[in-house]
Amino acid sequence: MAMAEGERTVSQKTDYPRPQQKNDGMGVWFFVEHKDNKVDEDCLKLAAEGRNLADKLGGETTAVIIGNQVECLAEHLGPYGTDRALVVEGPHLEAYTSEGYVDVLAQLVGSESPSIILLGATTVGNDLAPRLAARLKAPLVAHYIEIEVDKERKLTARRAIHGGNAQATVVPLKKPLIATIDTQLLSGQKAKVPRNTHIVGARVRIDPKTSATKVIDYLRADPCAVCVSEAEIVIGVGKGLGCVENLDAVEELARVLGASIGGSRRATDEHWITDERRIGLTGKTISPRLYLICGISGAFHHTLSIKDAKLKVVVNKDAHAPIARMADLLVVGDMQEIIPELTKQLREMHKPTA
Ligand SMILES: Cc1cc2nc3c(=O)[nH]c(=O)nc-3n(C[C@H](O)[C@H](O)[C@H](O)COP(=O)(O)OP(=O)(O)OC[C@H]3O[C@@H](n4cnc5c(N)ncnc54)[C@H](O)[C@@H]3O)c2cc1C
Repeated sequence: MAMAEGERTVSQKTDYPRPQQKNDGMGVWFFVEHKDNKVDEDCLKLAAEGRNLADKLGGETTAVIIGNQVECLAEHLGPYGTDRALVVEGPHLEAYTSEGYVDVLAQLVGSESPSIILLGATTVGNDLAPRLAARLKAPLVAHYIEIEVDKERKLTARRAIHGGNAQATVVPLKKPLIATIDTQLLSGQKAKVPRNTHIVGARVRIDPKTSATKVIDYLRADPCAVCVSEAEIVIGVGKGLGCVENLDAVEELARVLGASIGGSRRATDEHWITDERRIGLTGKTISPRLYLICGISGAFHHTLSIKDAKLKVVVNKDAHAPIARMADLLVVGDMQEIIPELTKQLREMHKPTA
C-alpha cells in the first residue's frame, strides 16, 4: 500500500496559490514519461489536458513520476497547472518494465481514488495502460479523442473506430477511467493559474525479484521501420506512385535518407503501403523534421495531419495541386524520375572521398 512519506513544494520564485487537497475521487492523474532526466515534451501536453479535465471535475491534478532520482522533474509541471507529483524512486525503477511500473501504479491507485488516469498513446503508455486496467479491473479507453464531463461529473469518452470513419461514445461504469491519447491531438497550453507542484514521496512495496524483465540495453531502431508518427524524416507516397513496383525506388531513397515511408489513403487503399502507415484524418499525425510528399494532391483529410512537419518538400507533376500551397520547396515533375535521381545524387554526396 502506498504511504505518503513527506510533502515538499517545488521552490518557485513566484508565490502561486497553494492548491487545496482534493482527492475525493475527482482527481486526474497522468503518467510522466521521461528520458535522460528530462520530462518528455508530450507529457507537458498531457499535464495540460489533466488540468483541463480536473477543472471540469473540480479536482486536482497529480503527476505520477516513477524512476531513479526523478523528483526534480516535478518542477516542470507547475506552469501546466499540476497540483501534486507522486514520486516513486529506486535504482530498480530506472528503466521501464511492464511488471515493475504496473505494480507501482496499481499500489498508488489503491491508496487513493482518482477519477481519471491519463497516459500518452506511446510505446510505454500503450503497454502500461491495458495492463493497469486489467490489474485494477478498471475501464480503459484507448486513443480517446475527447473526454466530456457532465453537470453531475459523469464521464463520457469518445474514440475513433473503423479507421476513423465513425466515433464510439464510451461511458465508464467504474473509476478510475484509464485513458490513452495521442498527445499530438493536444495543444499543451500552459495553465491560466500556474501551481506550486507539491511533491509527495510515495513508498510502495516492490520486490525487484518478481519482475520477469530485465533491461539490458536499448538499440536504435531502423529508421525505415519506425512508425511514421515518430520518424524524423518521412516520405509520403500517394496515387502518383502509379503502381507497387515503383515503391522499390522510394524504399531505396528511404534507406539513404533514413526515412520512414507513409502515404495517403489512396496509397493504402491500393495496398501499396500498409494501413498503419496512412497519414491523415483516418491515419497518423506526423511531425517530422522533413516530410517529402510525393504524388499526393493535398486533400485536407491528409494535410490536417502534416501541419507540424518542419520542412515540407513536395514532388508533384501538377504545379497547381493543392499541396503546392503548403510546400516549403516545390519540385514540379514526375516522381518516377525525380526519386531515383535524388537517391543517386545523395549517394554521390555521401561517397567517401579517397
Ligand atoms: C472520411 C474520409 C477520411 C479520409 N481520410 C484520409 C486520410 O486519413 N489520409 C488521406 O491521405 N486521405 C484520406 N481521405 C481521402 C482524401 O480525401 C483524398 O482522396 C486522398 O488523400 C487523395 O490521395 P492522393 O493525394 O494520393 O491521390 P490523388 O488525389 O489522386 O492525387 C494524386 C496526386 O499525384 C500527382 N501525380 C500523379 N502522378 C504523378 C507523378 N508521376 N509524379 C508526381 N506527381 C504525380 C497528381 O498531380 C495528384 O496531385 C479521406 C477521405 C474521406 C472521405
